[in-house]
Amino acid sequence: MRAPSAQEWSDALTAIGGADDIALLCHVGPDGDALGSMLGLGAALRANGRSVVASFGIADGETFGVPSTYSFLPALDILVEPADFPAEPEVLVTFDTGSLDRLGSLSDRVAAAGTSVVVDHHATNTRYGTVNLVDVDAAATAVLVAEILDRLGLPLTAEVAAPLYTALVTDTGSFKYVATTPSVHELAARLIATGIEHDLISRAIWDTASLAYVRLLGDVCSRTELDPGAAGGLGLVWTTVRPEDLQRHGLTLADVEGVIDVVRTAQEAEVAAVFKGEPETDSVRVSLRSKGAVDLGALCVPLGGGGHRYAAGFTSHGGVEDALDRLRSALATAPHLPT
Ligand code: 5GP
Ligand code: MN
Repeated sequence: MRAPSAQEWSDALTAIGGADDIALLCHVGPDGDALGSMLGLGAALRANGRSVVASFGIADGETFGVPSTYSFLPALDILVEPADFPAEPEVLVTFDTGSLDRLGSLSDRVAAAGTSVVVDHHATNTRYGTVNLVDVDAAATAVLVAEILDRLGLPLTAEVAAPLYTALVTDTGSFKYVATTPSVHELAARLIATGIEHDLISRAIWDTASLAYVRLLGDVCSRTELDPGAAGGLGLVWTTVRPEDLQRHGLTLADVEGVIDVVRTAQEAEVAAVFKGEPETDSVRVSLRSKGAVDLGALCVPLGGGGHRYAAGFTSHGGVEDALDRLRSALATAPHLPT
């Protein structure tokens, strides 16, 4: 089942539409879709007179903070530190979070909530809510949020539209990926019509980086390796962002999300990987991208992660070499899909 049923829609709208107090969460290390979807719904509900609180958990060894890329977003004042997030929210909504572990230090709030509504588009979603509004074909979680607002009769103001546009631009790769349907462009048109500065949003997301990042990119991209025999001959390119790289350039893991977007352009390989070592622990975050012939979301589930066909990830705890071995083994037996 790819789209939510009428019953799931009805349950979600009853829970969200009926809540005077509502608590919102998105995944650890939030990206534009996670933050934008959460803040878009949060801003709309707050403007409608509800009491709204939002946050995201932290993974081991991390500290709480909004990635600097998204510091322009309106409604950031809805956010509270994880320590201040309600222990037993009456109604909880999670965004862009395919599985419970992706809520990090706030995972326990789902079981503690009266009603938990999961709003998501990951193919690997484990349906951990009491209500699950999951549409695998949605280009972004924000597409579902926009539909929630429409069905609840809540208006798209600029304060609501800017986070939703941020989410849409992020998850479609600037309207480039296959999920960019005519209705995605129609939604983008409605969001732009509210008067948001869409050019500044896109610039902040795609075309702004520190000089330190540009230099780090040079270092890590120059170490990119190719294994043409990986994935049954489809090929794998990969590089590593080591804790020393982050330290040398004064950057954090949140600053290096975009490295994969450069590595994946190498046409010699179907699959691209970036291994990111956590500065404080032995764990390695693995970001993966494919050109479509390998379903990376499905591949990552047995590795403890998840995601989409074209973009997925997992965390490994035995260092980079071990993570690379695990990835290579999984790729060796992954089915090849028609593209
Ligand atoms: P990224 O490489 O940008 O961190 O993640 C790519 C995609 O894979 C995103 O949709 C993200 O939500 C998903 N993803 C990344 N890491 C994990 C993980 O550890 N578990 C799950 N379930 N999904 C992940
Ligand atoms: Mn998303």
